Amino acid sequence: MRPAAGLAFMVLVSVACNEPASRQGEAERVPEPAAAPAPAPVRAPPHTGEESPPIRKDGTVYAESELMGTRVSINVWAGPPATADAAAAGLAVREAFAEMVRLEEIMSEWQRGSELSRLSDAAGGAPQRLSPELFAVLKRAREIAEDTDGAFDPTFHGVGQLWSFKPGAAPPSAEAIAAKLSLVGWQALELDPVAGTGRLAKPGMKLGLGAIGKGYAADVVSQLLVRKGFPNHVVELGGDTYAAGRKDGKPWMVGIQRPDGPGVVGAIPVTDGSVVTSGDYQRFFEYEGKRYAHIIDPKTGWPVPAERSPKSVTLVAKNGTDADAYCTAVAVMGVDAGFQFAEAHEGLEVVIVTQDDELKVTSGLRDVLVLPPPPDPKTPPGASRAGAVDREAVLP
Ligand code: ADP
Ligand code: MG
Repeated sequence: MRPAAGLAFMVLVSVACNEPASRQGEAERVPEPAAAPAPAPVRAPPHTGEESPPIRKDGTVYAESELMGTRVSINVWAGPPATADAAAAGLAVREAFAEMVRLEEIMSEWQRGSELSRLSDAAGGAPQRLSPELFAVLKRAREIAEDTDGAFDPTFHGVGQLWSFKPGAAPPSAEAIAAKLSLVGWQALELDPVAGTGRLAKPGMKLGLGAIGKGYAADVVSQLLVRKGFPNHVVELGGDTYAAGRKDGKPWMVGIQRPDGPGVVGAIPVTDGSVVTSGDYQRFFEYEGKRYAHIIDPKTGWPVPAERSPKSVTLVAKNGTDADAYCTAVAVMGVDAGFQFAEAHEGLEVVIVTQDDELKVTSGLRDVLVLPPPPDPKTPPGASRAGAVDREAVLP
């Protein structure tokens, strides 16, 4: 996880985006992109907030914060407003943010003293005792790395550390990348479940959980909210969403941001599941006319080339940990191979937006994805329609 990343935002519903100004507020009103702005969200100081966010007319309590280098939010359906316990919901939300802070301190590769950084620092040395949380996320990371043939690989950071994706950045030299590439390889992440330890086999190896940590945190925080008596909620961390239960008996609607602009490509109804979006528009720089985006192909050490890179991948899975990591893997595989992988993989569904703004939707989502109304015929020709969805052409 990275500090000061591009902001992501929520449409209650959520999708990542590096345009803080384009925040859409909530939209259960998806798929109506022009929906009126939602009531102002409450900024929640993660640990200390004394006041509870108010209960809103629809029975939800909503708060957001900046954590893990991104915008995070929690929306709890506390019950019909007349009977809901706003104070208890507010307390649960504050505890949930505190839990995110705790997890970030364990799993950030950008905090020098984090447990993850200490594990990386010990690469090539003795096995390190791990917290149950770090052990669990590394175990699943390793399994998904194997399942995706290393398209997702938490050891990508051995070479990934050379890259910065701030605007104005330049790529590292080909020599520098080649020199670090031997430090990448999930097989060298050794985990001992009996001793509860982990080890990176080669000196210099480094772990990065930027593509799985937020999804894992969404799962853990969701479980916390259930334990606190609030089984109906959406937890969102920079485009990674876990939606639990329902809102007033109806599934939560999770919107998919248009990569190129405001509005949504569509929305997915979710009950007890995760929707994660990852896009090449989220964090990138341009150098000598070429765009370099933040998802790295662990086999080459270079960002996924534009020829195969999707504009965005939205992945649906049963939990946030899997959705986050598989989403990045599909982006690395590229439009065609990634789509085929998801189609063949039980429990995974994707919506891919290609560089030509074509939508590719796996079979399990075709009847589920809610598309926005067709574009207004009165829209003057030449008006910006980037990312527009052609309902007939796209969905058979
Ligand atoms: P975001 O963090 O914006 O939600 P992703 O979930 O797609 O986006 O994760 C991208 C992040 O994951 C990168 O910023 C980087 O930290 C890390 N990453 C990049 N490439 C890989 C990869 N091939 N395998 C694992 N992690 C990766
Ligand atoms: Mg991811």
